[in-house]
Amino acid sequence: MSTHVSCQCQSCTIRGLTGPAVLITVGVLFLLHQLHGGYLDFDNTWPVILVVIGMLLLASAFAPREGHIETQTSTAVPGAPPPPPAGAPPPVSPAERR
Ligand SMILES: [Zn+2]
Repeated sequence: MSTHVSCQCQSCTIRGLTGPAVLITVGVLFLLHQLHGGYLDFDNTWPVILVVIGMLLLASAFAPREGHIETQTSTAVPGAPPPPPAGAPPPVSPAERR
């Protein structure tokens, strides 16, 4: 249950496929390791994972970003009060109220 809005542009969609693609690649490489071994041993084939990640990142970089939704990256500390609006008087601390 994710509440954040995810972008549906082609670039972000391709980037979102990176995780599943890596899992599928690792699975296929382990399958080849189990079935054939030898030259297809995981010790020889693991760089394919890097190639898959690189290809997806390249495809994401060159894909159109029409309709891209910029995600909100807030530096606010969770639980901290929001900053006061511009022009508002500074908040009074409990010690200053006396
Ligand atoms: Zn996007």
